[in-house]
Amino acid sequence: RPRVLSGIQPTADSFHLGNYLGAVRNWVSMQDTHDAFYCVVDLHAITMGHDPETLRNRSRISAAQLLALGLDPERCTLFVQSHVPEHAQLGWVLSCITGFGEAGRMVQFKDKSAKAGQDSTTVGLFTYPILQAADILLYQADQVPVGEDQRQHLELTRDLAQRFNTRFGKTFNVPSAYIVKDTAKITDLQDPTSKMSKSASSPNGLIELLEDPARSAKKIKSAVTDTGREILYDEVNKPGISNLLTIYAALTSRAIDELLEAYEGRGYGDLKKDLAEVLVEFVKPIQERTRLYLDDPAQLDKVLAIGAEKARAVSAATLATAYRNVGFLSPV
Ligand code: ATP
Ligand code: MG
Repeated sequence: RPRVLSGIQPTADSFHLGNYLGAVRNWVSMQDTHDAFYCVVDLHAITMGHDPETLRNRSRISAAQLLALGLDPERCTLFVQSHVPEHAQLGWVLSCITGFGEAGRMVQFKDKSAKAGQDSTTVGLFTYPILQAADILLYQADQVPVGEDQRQHLELTRDLAQRFNTRFGKTFNVPSAYIVKDTAKITDLQDPTSKMSKSASSPNGLIELLEDPARSAKKIKSAVTDTGREILYDEVNKPGISNLLTIYAALTSRAIDELLEAYEGRGYGDLKKDLAEVLVEFVKPIQERTRLYLDDPAQLDKVLAIGAEKARAVSAATLATAYRNVGFLSPV
């Protein structure tokens, strides 16, 4: 079975629809075909400034949502990044083979730092893609299921793996990105040319899985659509309606063409109304299950502790090899 590793940041009180459709949905299905490792990447969540109590809560909420969305600790390894110290340890080594200019070319860093301003841009935000490379390489992952926004970071991971292997001997598997094209970029409902994002979207552009479903319905109904009246799939000229079609198709497992046929001659309003209903029915049981997991934090923590132990069995072995190959003296 090919190995997969992916992570999600506990940077909000809820995941959004893009996180689910672009990433977590694939995580769920890969449990049956892959040897799957998934983590709540809390080390990454402190790169932009944070509140400790909020972070703790969000890490639990994230884990609870992952379970509610269908991750099964019997069929995958689910853990919290900070429980596995090897991530930070390998991150340091990889940062020493990464060029300053190379890291500076990361588009997400440029975007996020431009928004934060120079005074609140941390070194951690700058080096975060290197830590992400460590997350992946520690598990010798073959594939990394992510949204389109992570493609460049994955490229860096591959470069670092190859560079390390060339300099110090074969140590890491070189992973490839696993991007499901159709849902790789769910866009902001109010700004359909940028991606839906926990940290960057305006409240009305973002569908949060845990928000009041009536609120989500309202956001769908007031989503920015395009000029013209015809329902067509055209990402360039009709990004708004195309995004809604993508979401609709993904949530109902119907093909876009089938939807186009069904809505021929009908208006945007009809489509939005129906999609709002589909969405409400989709999130209700997820919210219910998330609540159940959150009601028993001790059990949740236990699940995560078991996951961390399984993760460490793999990550400690990789780190030991990397340390030896890079020339660190073995402790006796
Ligand atoms: P942040 O704004 O804090 O970076 P985010 O919304 O980008 O949050 P992440 O935790 O960084 O979420 O990413 C988790 C996963 O969700 C990644 O695999 C990422 O590629 C995917 N993802 C994020 N946004 C979208 C989106 N709009 N469409 C599809 N996939 C997405
Ligand atoms: Mg992100």
